[in-house]
Amino acid sequence: MHAIVDTFEPADFNLYELKFLREHLKESPAVALHGGVPQHVNVDAVKPALERFRELDELSKVRNVPWVGYEPIEASIDRFIAYQDKCLAMQKFGEPRHPSQHIWDSTGSMIDQGIGSDASEKVRNELLEDGTRIPFAVKLIDSKRRSKVWGQPKTARKTADDKITHENGIVFCTICDKTITSYDVTTASSRIKNKHIKLGRDHCMASKFEEARHRAIANVPVA
Ligand SMILES: [Zn+2]
Repeated sequence: MHAIVDTFEPADFNLYELKFLREHLKESPAVALHGGVPQHVNVDAVKPALERFRELDELSKVRNVPWVGYEPIEASIDRFIAYQDKCLAMQKFGEPRHPSQHIWDSTGSMIDQGIGSDASEKVRNELLEDGTRIPFAVKLIDSKRRSKVWGQPKTARKTADDKITHENGIVFCTICDKTITSYDVTTASSRIKNKHIKLGRDHCMASKFEEARHRAIANVPVA
């Protein structure tokens, strides 16, 4: 149930566990769990979470894994606890205990388990008074974050500058920055020359590296 892999969902924990996680979030599991846990906190629930956070935090430092960091998790827990408090308070005025599990129509009438509402077992969204639902879940790995590791070389040429040059018998690809083939201009017949020029074109057609740019040189659109 508490398998935290890539998403932190506060509804997977009880309020005691959330408060415990919030307090010990940045500690190693060994430190956080040293001396035991408070009543109502299940070690089997909080330990895998602490382990995963620590693991991602370390991987982000040495391997640039795009871990979102502790702050969004803290914010999610704070928001979840505040929302629970608000719901409990509103319950005294006859409102449902878990409003996100319902929807309301234009007249303000409540409909149980309407489209878009949370399933009964979990409170996954904060429900605002205007009906907007804001998920509590935090994706632990931000796959859309820009890579700090991979990317274009700073000196990358503009695509318009890409070409296969052939000077002095050297057929050269500016994309790969390498000689494709060469021949002796003093002795080569025009047939031999054309054969080498064709090898340059073949290179553009076959290259698996920067395919679109290579095909553009050969005037072949890439699907
Ligand atoms: Zn090339």
